[in-house]
Amino acid sequence: MFSPLVVACVVLLLVCEGQSFDPGASKALVSLRAAYPGAIGKVLKDQQGVLRARLRNGGEEILRYEKQRSHADRVAAPSLLDILHQAYPSNLDFEAWPRNLDPGRYRNDALLKEVYGDTKPEVEKGLVTIKFLDKSIRFQSRNGAAEALREVGKEVAILLQTEPQLRKYFQEMGGTFNWRKIAGTQRLSSHSFGIAIDLNPSLGAYWKWERDQDRLGDMKRRLAYPGKIVRIFEKHGFIWGGKWYHYDLMHFEYRPEFFPSLKVPPSPKRGAD
Ligand SMILES: [Zn+2]
Repeated sequence: MFSPLVVACVVLLLVCEGQSFDPGASKALVSLRAAYPGAIGKVLKDQQGVLRARLRNGGEEILRYEKQRSHADRVAAPSLLDILHQAYPSNLDFEAWPRNLDPGRYRNDALLKEVYGDTKPEVEKGLVTIKFLDKSIRFQSRNGAAEALREVGKEVAILLQTEPQLRKYFQEMGGTFNWRKIAGTQRLSSHSFGIAIDLNPSLGAYWKWERDQDRLGDMKRRLAYPGKIVRIFEKHGFIWGGKWYHYDLMHFEYRPEFFPSLKVPPSPKRGAD
């Protein structure tokens, strides 16, 4: 967690910038700044009185914080502060998954483009090849993502020594970097930034593909997925698509803003790496 000193400094900074912020919005901004070091600069008020956050490479994002926005609106066009509107649950302690609880599916494209690249070639410049179990895979080096996945791989290798039956989840994997839109939408998939990995698709259900959609059956599918694998990914800053109402069980995505205890190393300004 953040120390009271850090929180106090950020609150002071916001006061100094002349803004009065909802406490929830301030907390979200603290988490985002810690998870994406250097990416979000000053908060400024424009002539219309709208708060805007400066992004490192020259962009600006409106700091909109509306408690009453609909789920569909937040998915379609999330503001920076919408990203953390839903908390990521630490366990699966629900009888049925709460409707539309999709933590991590509110992705702000401007922030992701800022940190990882705004075009396919720009994202590709940040990709590195790492060893992951017996495979070589491409992943995003910026913002500590590839390093986090490397650590996941090391821990999974140890787990497989005692639980070899779990190896099948890492065979025929679904892939990592793929510059594409989410099926049926105009929004970029997190795979476009090289920060997501799909394990074996034949062992990971996707909500759209399941014919017998019912909430209790869906819960059973989540519970049947090996929790030991999920916990290793989460320990290193990856959210799991199994903790979404619109679930995607094979999908893990590097989203350090949901894990405040994680230490994300500062990465160089894009173009300098
Ligand atoms: Zn995926």
